[in-house]
Amino acid sequence: MVNPPLSTNPVPVSPDSWKQAVCAAWHAAGNRLTEPRVRVLDAIIRYTTPFSAEQLYADLAQLADPPGRATVYRTIEQLSTSGWLARIHTQLGEAGYVPSLPGHLHHLICTNCGVVIAFAGCALDDLLARLSTQTDFAIEDHLLQLYGRCANCKKQC
Ligand SMILES: [Zn+2]
Ligand SMILES: [Zn+2]
Repeated sequence: MVNPPLSTNPVPVSPDSWKQAVCAAWHAAGNRLTEPRVRVLDAIIRYTTPFSAEQLYADLAQLADPPGRATVYRTIEQLSTSGWLARIHTQLGEAGYVPSLPGHLHHLICTNCGVVIAFAGCALDDLLARLSTQTDFAIEDHLLQLYGRCANCKKQC
């Protein structure tokens, strides 16, 4: 039987539904939705491009009664481990985070405006199997990020 062609689909991550989904997942896992942590989520969804932990902490520190550094870093760590944040590497070698969804996703990164688009449908299986055979390497994981210009920035050229 011939496999159907693998479909690749953009996965939209809308800020409000992302926050709701994270809260629901935390609740289901028995974590308390403390006010400082919800504030961290509120700050995260305001970014339109990847942010660093230090930047998030600095932005939150502008607020009255800001969450502590440990809360900010621990929340990012937890969200990242569970797939709610994706770690993005820019071409300048900086690392940042964007809201994402648990599961196997890859990302397109606009080098002009910094927007990040997630997509599902990883077509690397054949390549990985071939490489694994050729190199006798047990491949356990991979990272794929694509750089270029988003639809909006493409129009501006
Ligand atoms: Zn762009
Ligand atoms: Zn993949």
